[in-house]
Amino acid sequence: MSQPSVSQTFRAIDVIRKKRDGIELSRAEIEGLVSAYTKNEIPDYQVSAWLMAVVLKGMTRAETAALTDAMLHSGDVLDLSSLPVRKVDKHSTGGVGDKTSLVLAPLAAAAGIAVPMISGRGLGHTGGTLDKLEAIPGFNVNLPVAEFRRVLEVCGCAMIGQTAEIAPADRKLYALRDVTGTVESPYLICASIMSKKLAEGIDALVLDVKTGSGAFMKSEEDAAFLAELMVETGERMGKQVVALITDMDQPLGNMIGNALEVVEVVEVLHGKGPEDLRELCLELAGWMLHLGGVSRTVAEGKERSAKLISSGQALDRFRQMVELQGGDAGVIDDTKRLPQARHTMQVSSAQGGYLTSMQCEQIGTACVILGGGRERKEDSVDPAVGIALHKKVGDRITAGEPIATIHYNSEAQAARARQLIESSCVVTETGPLKKRPLIHRVIGKSTEKN
Ligand code: URA
Repeated sequence: MSQPSVSQTFRAIDVIRKKRDGIELSRAEIEGLVSAYTKNEIPDYQVSAWLMAVVLKGMTRAETAALTDAMLHSGDVLDLSSLPVRKVDKHSTGGVGDKTSLVLAPLAAAAGIAVPMISGRGLGHTGGTLDKLEAIPGFNVNLPVAEFRRVLEVCGCAMIGQTAEIAPADRKLYALRDVTGTVESPYLICASIMSKKLAEGIDALVLDVKTGSGAFMKSEEDAAFLAELMVETGERMGKQVVALITDMDQPLGNMIGNALEVVEVVEVLHGKGPEDLRELCLELAGWMLHLGGVSRTVAEGKERSAKLISSGQALDRFRQMVELQGGDAGVIDDTKRLPQARHTMQVSSAQGGYLTSMQCEQIGTACVILGGGRERKEDSVDPAVGIALHKKVGDRITAGEPIATIHYNSEAQAARARQLIESSCVVTETGPLKKRPLIHRVIGKSTEKN
């Protein structure tokens, strides 16, 4: 008699109960759950219960590896071995105002490596690369795999979301986690990120693991734990992986909100833009070029990246990618062609002194409230709304001076966002403060030579 298949024996309720009671799940149970959910054989509410049990009880290394593998094999794994260059990607664990991917993909491609980037949408209070790209009129993040490959071959980088073919399990789980309070688990974040990334056919990966009040991992210790988990998972699959623990105690750059962030990306690719954003882009690019084998050291990779920006080659590559993916490349020369909010409103400081801290998660939530992110998984985002910061932590400020400008389309939403921004910003009389470093530390075997 033949053995029953996993889906014939699998019962979601058993797996939920077991995880609730802190009992280790077998590889077959995890595969059963991921496979059944991907095929719509079990409902959102059961998977939500299981996700919450994982958040509360955690996972062993064996369970994390099984979950990553099950999600990875829920779809196709790309074979890009026909491309004659090394394939390197970068992924962030999620932050506020983090638009580095849009700079890095064309920048690294201009240096001669291939960047096959599969990204996500906004999650919780954080923004998502796909939502930012879609702020560019016409930009298609849903390319079929054959077209993704063609864009990659022509311009060295391509940026899409999970398709029905690539890591479809993560696409469903990611959307469900976003609205069920189940994002903040290192095991789920590791499986989500690594399954997408390992499906891309890459040789190496640079991870940007955020820490601070706007990160999912608030403490540096938790961020380092997640970084080590992801580096180990990637290395187990034979990839070179390095993780940079970087600061997210305030938004990155000055712009938060999809179209506003594209404006800042164009500025950075023009050699301008805010210092923290430029510095982080160059550091991450330095690592990508080094792991991509086109620079001997990270420092050399950074130097080369700076030159690719000042010569305009990185911007040209961005323009080419936007055109190849159906977007209006005219926005690069005239950013007013991007969606614009109907109204703006200033948030000013009631007192003078120094901006001492910003509750970064609340700033991200303020952007979600404006419509720049999702409250429910079926919500659409408004690409035009967001927040432009005029002050960063440590800056001097006088009473009545603007801290931020809100770009909005609804008065009620703007009023709520304004309250959140006001309560997020602490101004004190004494200063200046010792600034937190942008890069806290680097984790991974590949760091040994640098
Ligand atoms: N980014 C991802 O791709 N997945 C997560 O779970 C969190 C951030």
